[in-house]
Amino acid sequence: MAKQIQAIRGMNDCLPDQTPVWQMVETTLRRVVASYGYSEIRMPVVEMTHLFQRAIGEVTDVVEKEMYTFNDRNGDSLTLRPEGTAGCVRACIEHGLVYNQERRLWYIGPMFRHERPQKGRYRQFHQFGVEVFGLSGPDIDAELIMLTARLWRELGIEQYATLQLNTLGSSEERAAYRDALVTFLEQHKESLDEESQRRMYSNPLRVLDTKNPQVQDILTNAPKLSDYFGEATKAHFDGLKVLLDAADIAYEVNERLVRGLDYYNYTVFEWVTDSLGAQGTICGGGRYDGLVEQLGGQATPAIGFAMGLERLTLMLETLEKVNNLPSAVDVYICMAGEGTLAAGLMLAEKLRSDRPQLRVMTHCGGGNFKKQMKRADKMQASVALILGETEVAEQKVTVKFLRDQGEQQTVNTSELVTLLDKLGE
Ligand code: ATP
Ligand code: MG
Repeated sequence: MAKQIQAIRGMNDCLPDQTPVWQMVETTLRRVVASYGYSEIRMPVVEMTHLFQRAIGEVTDVVEKEMYTFNDRNGDSLTLRPEGTAGCVRACIEHGLVYNQERRLWYIGPMFRHERPQKGRYRQFHQFGVEVFGLSGPDIDAELIMLTARLWRELGIEQYATLQLNTLGSSEERAAYRDALVTFLEQHKESLDEESQRRMYSNPLRVLDTKNPQVQDILTNAPKLSDYFGEATKAHFDGLKVLLDAADIAYEVNERLVRGLDYYNYTVFEWVTDSLGAQGTICGGGRYDGLVEQLGGQATPAIGFAMGLERLTLMLETLEKVNNLPSAVDVYICMAGEGTLAAGLMLAEKLRSDRPQLRVMTHCGGGNFKKQMKRADKMQASVALILGETEVAEQKVTVKFLRDQGEQQTVNTSELVTLLDKLGE
């Protein structure tokens, strides 16, 4: 036998028994964003490498060590998108979508990061994201958070997700703070780990994000970003908190929350859960007022978030919120005998035309009725329709109920739809 070829590590197949959960999540996501009047945008999966270097920042985990970058046959450096915001902003500028106008957009699709695969962390994963342009908040900041909170409610997981909130202030405030932080870090250079030492000049705010407890200890005495905030930053943050209070959305202000990508300013937030172990962030976002201009557009305020769908579906499964997913088939058509094949296939076609919602599967491949009924059962159909030679000759069909809905009966094919409608009630 030839050697099997396997999928790439960290890139998963989504198998037929898992797709119903994904479909349920996707349907809910689409319904919720539609209820806010947002429009879908679809971007390519591959972009110029420059785009991510410039948007996400050179000194970030993503750009430093996680990107799938390759030269194409023309010698251009391309990258599989590690996130959606950069491509979305690029598309909006390129097509004039955000020039002097407001846009509320969403997208869904695969993202790629070369990370160590583990539960909740993969190399191809899927994000659902929202990006809003042309609004400077805090009203829209609150709307985005309310939208995410509604999603948790609709998925039945609202008790398991908590909101962490912070503000990063304006870029001027961060620049002033950055200097003070570097001075502090220099005084403790000996006790910092290698990564923090490397980052203290290139991207000192990211040192705050460290997972090393020893460095975290040192940082308790570091100057605070909030000491550098002016009136505008405070008013924006207070305004957001007032709106969240009014919407009855609980939050925890976490001054350590800086987010992994460079482009954020003012509002940043994460929804976290403790039902997933270490990979507990299911959604992260924030304001990025500088990015459109940085990528060559006209200065445009913007805010967005992205959520990881593997973590979300994992959470739904862990919390057993996905028990009653429907089977794929309602009606299974069994047929045996002279002339029954054509009659069965035609009956299925007629049912599909008359009742487009009905999921009708025909038995293929022959065999006796016993074998066919076993298949019907396996497909978890709720009704089996039996067509033998007698039924076909008399233009009838035998209806067998597979979920205790009643006694088997034989009806005229013309009455079948009415009978099935009654079952659906
Ligand atoms: P983490 O701290 O877990 O690495 P991140 O800050 O890198 O997350 P973002 O770039 O903010 O993540 O992406 C938004 C969301 O996408 C995350 O909150 C998470 O739910 C999901 N996500 C990010 N990276 C992965 C991955 N490698 N596998 C699965 N989901 C991911
Ligand atoms: Mg990450």
